[in-house]
Amino acid sequence: MASKFSGVLQLTDLDDFITPSQECIKPVKVEKTAGEVGKIKIHNDGSYVQVAQTGEEVKLQKAKITLNDCLACSGCITSAEAVLITQQSQDELYRVLEQNRKAAQDGETSQEKLVVISISPQSRTSLAARYNLSSLDTAKKLTGFFKQLGAHHVFDTTFTRDFSLLESQREFVQRFQSNDTSAPLPMLASACPGWICYAEKTHGEYVLPYISTTKSPQQVMGSLVKDHFSKQQGKPPDQIYHVTVMPCFDKKLEASREDFYDDVYRTRDVDCVITSGEVEAMLEKEGISLVDVTPADLDTMFSSTSGAELLSHSGGGSGGYLEHIFRHAARELFGQDVQSVNYKTLRNKDFKEVTLEVEGKVVLKFALAYGFRNIQNMVQKVKRGKSPYHFVEVMACPSGCLNGGGQVRIGDKEADKDLLTRAEELYSALPVRTPEENPLLESLYTEWLSGRDNEKARQMLHTSYHPVAKMTNALAIKW
Ligand code: SF4
Repeated sequence: MASKFSGVLQLTDLDDFITPSQECIKPVKVEKTAGEVGKIKIHNDGSYVQVAQTGEEVKLQKAKITLNDCLACSGCITSAEAVLITQQSQDELYRVLEQNRKAAQDGETSQEKLVVISISPQSRTSLAARYNLSSLDTAKKLTGFFKQLGAHHVFDTTFTRDFSLLESQREFVQRFQSNDTSAPLPMLASACPGWICYAEKTHGEYVLPYISTTKSPQQVMGSLVKDHFSKQQGKPPDQIYHVTVMPCFDKKLEASREDFYDDVYRTRDVDCVITSGEVEAMLEKEGISLVDVTPADLDTMFSSTSGAELLSHSGGGSGGYLEHIFRHAARELFGQDVQSVNYKTLRNKDFKEVTLEVEGKVVLKFALAYGFRNIQNMVQKVKRGKSPYHFVEVMACPSGCLNGGGQVRIGDKEADKDLLTRAEELYSALPVRTPEENPLLESLYTEWLSGRDNEKARQMLHTSYHPVAKMTNALAIKW
């Protein structure tokens, strides 16, 4: 996999990209003297050089791309960005931890930030597969690792996925029952920032009204930590440093959105996102294998556990949005109790549909569309008013989040395939619970949000989307 930011770099894995490099607004400018024809070569260490006809090599500068450049660009969609993104990385986390250590040494404890790490279940599973550990052992060892580094709390975003699922369920039923043209059907899932980026940059106002306004589990955790938890801890939001561990680089872009920035305290709901692969790099930097890390007890405050067990959701490694909304809608709208959700595979394994029939008539038709080829087809149908679906679970990565671009990779195609298979097995082995069964959620709706249908709940659990003006150059190829 290589960067898609620069026109001079070659792309090696385009499965989930569509013409990525052609529209980059920051192409690297290669100075050439008249008449000279040169080649660009990439060395094993990632540096690239211009090779003259004489064979002479001149090292070229790396392009610097900020997140804002990336968000303003219409060329890049998903995974692999981290190669050149410098604003969010494990280095930033190390910098804050070092500042904390220094403040403690100098007796300036008021300067210390409370460091909170929220780990996604997909990242935990990827690391579990990599180190051949159980999911529970991995969760405990990751908690131990981050706490040894200086983190104060380690949470699990499975917990806030309960909020995302519940709110998505309610939103779907509301849309189904109303004729509101500003919130039409099919409702399109909103948890994948790779897909949201693509929709905002390429289909603007045509598609955005269809996207669910519910925040992703990462961003609900951001609201929970910076709003509710900060008050519980008696700390202003800017005195909390909130890091998430995620399966893709697109989550860095999501965390950087203006919608998730607090102007008053000048802080983000999620300050830094590191990927599963970057956690592996941190372990290597510390010279320790996850296997040898001393485990620590799980923080149970905002984590999904039952006794000594981790809990998950049914419906696959991307969160199970289709299944939860399908069951809820069948019950609420048609009084049907769906025992098992039967998928019918359509064009490929990443495009499936599920239907509910009542008295021989199809009353609900849902689909799952993963990877950009399937997303493109689905979007074209929505734009033409020809989509047969009521809801589509849209995910940018083929095979979904367990296969995210930031997951741990060995670098060998077959070995990585085995790793993904093992991750899928580990993930599906966890016991599941519905969000309605989470005993803490009800009290949080009351204590934190003062109820369900109010402005506070809307602000904390929902968001909005914005068409991004397309910036193109002469080489641009239309999607
Ligand atoms: Fe990230 Fe999941 Fe979307 Fe892939 S499918 S870009 S891992 S949120």
